[in-house]
Amino acid sequence: MIQDIAPSHLDITYHPYEPDEDSRILFFRQGELLVLPSPKNDGEIDFPKYDGAKRFESGYTYLFSIDRQRFFRVALTEEEMQTVVKAEKNAVFCRRSYFRTARPKALAFAAVTGLHLNGWYEKNRYCGSCQTKLEADERERMLRCPCCGNMVYPRIDPAVIVAVTDQDRLLLTKYRGREYKNYALVAGFNEIGETLEETAIREVWEETGLHIRNLRYYRSQPWGFADNLLVGFFCDVDGDPSIRMDEEELAVAEWVKREEIPVKMEDMSLTNEMICRFKLDNQ
Ligand SMILES: [Zn+2]
Repeated sequence: MIQDIAPSHLDITYHPYEPDEDSRILFFRQGELLVLPSPKNDGEIDFPKYDGAKRFESGYTYLFSIDRQRFFRVALTEEEMQTVVKAEKNAVFCRRSYFRTARPKALAFAAVTGLHLNGWYEKNRYCGSCQTKLEADERERMLRCPCCGNMVYPRIDPAVIVAVTDQDRLLLTKYRGREYKNYALVAGFNEIGETLEETAIREVWEETGLHIRNLRYYRSQPWGFADNLLVGFFCDVDGDPSIRMDEEELAVAEWVKREEIPVKMEDMSLTNEMICRFKLDNQ
């Protein structure tokens, strides 16, 4: 999965660090991130290094570290951004989806985590209660309103992924009207007042009309592509396996036999890992 970058490790703990000469700077513009593709054209990426000479008015915000390398964001005016783009040869702005296949994986994970954090900073410039400009807290990653004391923490939307099995068959779905066209599993957002187990039961019922039993937690995954924390469960169908598909949400919902499940060469998503686990009879 995208977060499996061992022996490297992403440390998200906030510190009020300043950049050093080995730091990487993440430059964002309209939801895109500035990338330096390898001149060898081999799919490898890097990010601009901190250059002490580049002093921007808005300053640098520490995001996280991967091993000893620190990553920062800086919010620039369009004019300042033009000077950065000119100085960095071959630099290109990339959308989130680009990082599904970018390598090395540790930097793809850094990119998506940076995009998630940057989106949160950009959407929380002002207090939602009294519209005063928010200020960054010194000790933790939190924005505080100096007027009314409102505290704004990073936003993470929890969602479940559910692999429903019926002996040697797995319930596979395809979303309706989405860019992503491959097989998926039942998935959906946790609602206020609901446990994750209740979300799994509700989503399977809403999307396919199936009852489930023997729900078991598998793994979770930070999924910065959509600001989620994904929580994966396996379970068995309970009773009648006839599917009543939610046609507004899904284009396909069907039972697929273990040997007929298509294998995708992809090591980023929890969904694909769970599908592969079932195929290898190893969940
Ligand atoms: Zn306020």
